[in-house]
Amino acid sequence: MDKVTKERISQLHPSVRAEVTRIIEEIDNALTGRAAVRISQGLRTFAEQDEIYAQGRSNPGKKVTNAKGGQSIHNYGLAVDIVLIIDGKTASWDTVKDWDNDKVADWYECVKIFAKYGWDWGGNWKTFKDLPHFEKKGYTWRGLLAKKRDKSNYVIL
Ligand SMILES: [Zn+2]
Repeated sequence: MDKVTKERISQLHPSVRAEVTRIIEEIDNALTGRAAVRISQGLRTFAEQDEIYAQGRSNPGKKVTNAKGGQSIHNYGLAVDIVLIIDGKTASWDTVKDWDNDKVADWYECVKIFAKYGWDWGGNWKTFKDLPHFEKKGYTWRGLLAKKRDKSNYVIL
């Protein structure tokens, strides 16, 4: 796993850090070809969330999210976005390509491994498909928003 991925895991909610480490390791073992998985986003602050919400609304660009600050599972460190790095240098969000020629799209290999550990895939959402996105099952932003925080500002689960 690359340094960026390790750093992003270290900022996730403490309850999922070890699990996400195992998931990434398992994906690293499953992808035997040109692609490697990287976590492109993990924890996102409320302010950062408000900024991307503004994109395509009060700011220029295309809408990328329907979630304001506090309304994304990222804001609690319980979601990650992935990207595939091809040949150690090129980012790819291709969800059908089979970079290791094992007859299963590499992206779908990631989906299966996340699912095995109880993580929902944004690609299964009906209204706003978010293909790079995975979040720990069983949480809603409303439920998380109501929770108390610890000294490091993580919600107490
Ligand atoms: Zn996401």
